[in-house]
Amino acid sequence: MIDRGSAARLKPGMLEELLRSGGVQAMVLSRRQALVSGQGLVFLDAAGLAGRFKGTAYAPEQVIYLGTALPGARAAEGTQYVLFVLPEQFEVRAEPFEPHVEGIPAGAQWAGFREVAAQLDPTDTALFIEASAIANWHATHTHCPRCGAATVPEAGGWVRRCPSDNSEHYPRTDPAIIVTVVGPDDRLLLGGGGPLDSRNYSTLAGFVEPGESLEQAVVREIGEEVGVRVTASQYLGSQSWPFPASLMLGFTATTADTEATPDGVEVTRARWFSRAELQEAVLSGEIVISSRLSIARALIEHWYGGVIQDRPDSA
Ligand SMILES: [Zn+2]
Repeated sequence: MIDRGSAARLKPGMLEELLRSGGVQAMVLSRRQALVSGQGLVFLDAAGLAGRFKGTAYAPEQVIYLGTALPGARAAEGTQYVLFVLPEQFEVRAEPFEPHVEGIPAGAQWAGFREVAAQLDPTDTALFIEASAIANWHATHTHCPRCGAATVPEAGGWVRRCPSDNSEHYPRTDPAIIVTVVGPDDRLLLGGGGPLDSRNYSTLAGFVEPGESLEQAVVREIGEEVGVRVTASQYLGSQSWPFPASLMLGFTATTADTEATPDGVEVTRARWFSRAELQEAVLSGEIVISSRLSIARALIEHWYGGVIQDRPDSA
């Protein structure tokens, strides 16, 4: 895994010094896609890449410190990582590359997190999530909310400072609750909606409002979305989902209600399942539930008490 070096990155000029020192691994991100190969994320020599892209259309919009490898990572312990957020994607399949970049393995390509998450190891997963979160924040927080002046990144890319009023601005994360609702007969309530496949069913979820506790958000969201009154909730775990900036906080909640009425907006269908009914509906293809990458699946399987078998022909 990664030590983000939250103290080390505060040193003025640390990023410039790091890039000069050599041996630093650069992850590249462009249009929310990273460069990946069969081994996982592709890391390039940061100093070489900075020199290669200088003055070109690929000159990075942001260079951000990501941290150092801890024991167990694919790279040697202490390997330093930075992120280059590129304005354009260079062509990795054409020969010669334009601009030519050393160290790109054959078969490398650009890919979004969802496309490759299943094949990434825990360190690459953590880096992709961290990189996406901080890159998305920079892309949408370019100006001071107080005075409107363009802000300038500092602290390795983890703070933006306003040169006009000297205010500091930090990356933000939007908390959202995601909930398994369990009825009096131990059946699970799942819902679906929006433009997705009408067979899709998942846990209910929603953003926490300002001034609201997580427990209050659980009660409000479930009430709004399906008209069910939950009486007790328990926190089970969380998942960062920075597309663009969510932190999913997983709960299980109980209700005495047996009827659910979808709001017709966020949720257009809701259904109670016994464990046997859920497994059968998934195996038959009647419904599709969240993938193994998601906390939704982990919450559903927490209720189920084990692994739910996917339909053999599903991805
Ligand atoms: Zn300002």
